[in-house]
Amino acid sequence: MRHYFHGDEVEGQAGHYYCAYCDWFVNEKHFSEVSHSGTDKERYDRSVKAWKVRKKNSQDNLQRPNGAHNLFSSIPKPKKPKTSPFYRWLVKQQDRDDPIGDLSKDVRRDNGFPLESSSLEILRNRLIGKSACDEAIQALEEAHKEFKSNKTTRSGLSLALRFDVFRRDDFRCQICGITASEGGRLEVDHKVPVAKGGSDEMSNLWILCFNCNRGKGTKSL
Ligand SMILES: [Zn+2]
Ligand SMILES: [Zn+2]
Repeated sequence: MRHYFHGDEVEGQAGHYYCAYCDWFVNEKHFSEVSHSGTDKERYDRSVKAWKVRKKNSQDNLQRPNGAHNLFSSIPKPKKPKTSPFYRWLVKQQDRDDPIGDLSKDVRRDNGFPLESSSLEILRNRLIGKSACDEAIQALEEAHKEFKSNKTTRSGLSLALRFDVFRRDDFRCQICGITASEGGRLEVDHKVPVAKGGSDEMSNLWILCFNCNRGKGTKSL
């Protein structure tokens, strides 16, 4: 007995094929004209799997010649886009009740988000290109830091406190006024450094961009 896979050409009857969905022999047009659930390639792949199981478990004398002509066997599987470890981490943060949680939900809805990239520059540019608000761009910065540092922030300040400072300072460097969407790399800075006895109170914290912060050095204002 000849066993047929979905899309196998019928032996001795060129132009006739087996449709496993209809369990019937059909002509080639059938596959484009009749709608079946799923793709023909998927159905063919299932035929192959079921066949392997069947060959292992049964004594029946079914045959299928190697290299049988099939309409779908050589169609490559559609590749799933690869995702970066950062992206996989970020989409798991969606239940958080903070700006990173909001970002996570936005990113899942963004069909054009660069899933494969963990480059902060590329991801920032995507948000800026989508006219994302400064809070979202800053959330990306913070998410990236948190991801890399494995849940501990460099400054030791909580994310909630940091975002309170960002919002109070309108997501702008308090020296030059640049925002994240204008390309600034904003950070929460201690006006009086911790090393000199500065506290973690809101009143001792402000937003600076990377350039202004570096220019400031360790002297306090
Ligand atoms: Zn069919
Ligand atoms: Zn600045």
